[in-house]
Amino acid sequence: ALAGKCALVTGGTSGIGLGIAKRLKTLGASVIINSHETPSDVQPALDDLNKHDGPDVRFAQADMSAHVNIDEMMDALKRDQISFDILVNNVGIQHVKPIVDFPVEKWQQILEINLSSSFYLSKHVLPHMKAKKWGRIINIASAHGLVASAYKSAYVAAKHGILGLTKVAALEHAEDGITCNAICPGYVWTPLVEQQLADQCKVHGLSKQEVIENIMLQPQPTKKFVQIDEVAELTGFLCGDLAGSITGTSLAIDGGWTAR
Ligand code: NAD
Repeated sequence: ALAGKCALVTGGTSGIGLGIAKRLKTLGASVIINSHETPSDVQPALDDLNKHDGPDVRFAQADMSAHVNIDEMMDALKRDQISFDILVNNVGIQHVKPIVDFPVEKWQQILEINLSSSFYLSKHVLPHMKAKKWGRIINIASAHGLVASAYKSAYVAAKHGILGLTKVAALEHAEDGITCNAICPGYVWTPLVEQQLADQCKVHGLSKQEVIENIMLQPQPTKKFVQIDEVAELTGFLCGDLAGSITGTSLAIDGGWTAR
């Protein structure tokens, strides 16, 4: 369904981004995955992806915490005649600390990676999409784009912010065949969540099992982690032509978390 389309997935070498890359590839898109890692770091992920049907997936390295890196990556891709019909702003990091102890540099880094990179990349891809009269921007936000939790100030602020950016991009390009939407997953078991377990144990004074049950799954009425494939499937749907009237919205995929 996406044959002939070219897609960029930021933070596409792990977790949700990797799952989205696989889904878009099997739908026929030419996919480029990005991360800050080295090509040899990501080779195993690429080899694994390329076992699946669809055009070969390629890698574009750039650390999304700096505007200049994003420009360099996009300029290099442009020189290779690559322009994007689909942009999935998926990259995101977490840091768990009360505001009073939250390092200013971490705040700035999270805002750059989780929010500003989507703005910079949207600036790059929108002119091509507009010329083609077709485009899809999907911002992977979070349930934390809709509601808050303690100790995640930068993450929650960035995720609330990206819902605003999503709406503006949708309005500015509503007549151009371009849609822009946000997906708001609840807890998905990925390396990002695994890595925050230890910090959550520390700030809450709980064991790992207690954090999983009382902090992560407690707000999700289904009491289950959301699956990577579920987020990937929704992303694929939003890229399709039948999703052409869905724009400027946020779709929760959170086991009922934000229904409360
Ligand atoms: P993950 O840690 O498994 O993957 C993150 C990806 O981003 C990796 O490919 C990593 O290499 C890349 N990355 C990290 N820092 C980077 C940088 N500076 N520059 C470029 N790439 C960088 O994370 P995940 O859980 O798959 O999360 C993906 C997105 O989904 C994030 O935006 C996250 O906020 C969001 N999300 C995750 C959950 C969850 O429970 N896992 C829930 C809601 C939203």
